[in-house]
Amino acid sequence: MKEQTLAIHAGYEKDTQHTMAVPIYMSTAYDFGSADFAASSFNLEQGTDHVYTRVGNPTTAVLERRFAQLEGGSGALAISSGMGAIFYSILNVAGAGDNIIISSKLYGGTITLFTQTLKKLGIEGRFFNIDNPQEIDNLVDDNTKAIFFESISNPSIDVANIEEIVTIADKHGILTIVDNTVATPFLCKPFSFGVDVVVHSASKYTTGQGLAIGGLMVERVGLVDKIKNNSRYPYFNEPETSYHGLIFADCPASSVLFTFRTRMILLRDTGAVLSPFNAWLFIQGLETLALRMRQHSDSALKIANFLLSHSKVKKVNYPLLKNDKNYENAIKYLSKGASGLLSFEVEDFAEAKKILDGVEIFSIVANIGDSKSIINHSASTTHQQLSKAELLQAGINEGLIRLSVGLEDSDDLIEDLKIALG
Ligand SMILES: *Cc1c(COP(=O)(O)O)cnc(C)c1O
Repeated sequence: MKEQTLAIHAGYEKDTQHTMAVPIYMSTAYDFGSADFAASSFNLEQGTDHVYTRVGNPTTAVLERRFAQLEGGSGALAISSGMGAIFYSILNVAGAGDNIIISSKLYGGTITLFTQTLKKLGIEGRFFNIDNPQEIDNLVDDNTKAIFFESISNPSIDVANIEEIVTIADKHGILTIVDNTVATPFLCKPFSFGVDVVVHSASKYTTGQGLAIGGLMVERVGLVDKIKNNSRYPYFNEPETSYHGLIFADCPASSVLFTFRTRMILLRDTGAVLSPFNAWLFIQGLETLALRMRQHSDSALKIANFLLSHSKVKKVNYPLLKNDKNYENAIKYLSKGASGLLSFEVEDFAEAKKILDGVEIFSIVANIGDSKSIINHSASTTHQQLSKAELLQAGINEGLIRLSVGLEDSDDLIEDLKIALG
């Protein structure tokens, strides 16, 4: 089936009430019916949708199945936020003494996750230049557990050369984890280029109207073959004492071993579970995601071309502009559009401030992916916690303005920017 059909129907068998809309099962727990069934549920023999909502819920399961199909993966796991999904994707493979090789161009929260929180836990983040993936080779050692990058980076809007990174990772038997939040499964399909695990913030385009925080983790078909008997991944190959010596790489759920282990170990023990109500909101969002991504992308390209022609604009970053340094990767990996995210540079902070205070339709908000257009000054808001050196490394100039182009008429948005630019 084609993706727009999957987005409407995948993963939902109508329940006993035959409801067209997916029901919201607001329930903490489920009646096992018999002692034997209860025991087998806890022994992981009955699936995970009807034990306790921290590890599974029937509404959330629809979102997981649908999202897995849209990415072309074998399984997905919903988590309470995008940051939660990223954190779990790392904790699922790494512990104290291990390292992760990470792109120099990442979301601000992801950078601080690596430089602050994971560092305190003894997990080292080693930066590589996203424009020069060959650097990865020299950073790899026996304790490297994953290579982490964003398909389209937020906010620097770089497009990764996915296949070059995957080739190096595969040579060393290392997992690749991609944050596909900005591209969404409709603009980029990382699994078709060999990526192993995809993570998302559903808080952006998936919800689409700025309604709810949530995250997803998806794994590719056949990931078990890369992990099984791979000495880098003892968590999956050694007996798990909390499940009577179960070996994840050999268990009946091994076709979804990455998300299954996250659910049964990390969600069990640390509990960053998505609310079924938010799962339901994301299911509504998925129905129109493809249509919206097309519109966001078309408008953003028009606005990028307008900004390019304006005398006060020093630089425009949009991957589908012919002169953008990401153009080649964009044509290859983002064939259907490059999202509504674009950025541009004006002279300095003062000039940027004038524009932010001058627009009327755009709102000053620390978010992206809303139907309402957003304008943002990265250096003073979302990336404020970064040092000057980290800002530079993340490609953030003090005159950099970030736009998340919404679903308003692009003529009105251009007029709004024209007036604010003066
Ligand atoms: C917003 C965002 C995140 C974090 O997601 P939350 O749902 O806000 O926790 C991670 N990565 C990228 C690229 C993002 O834009």
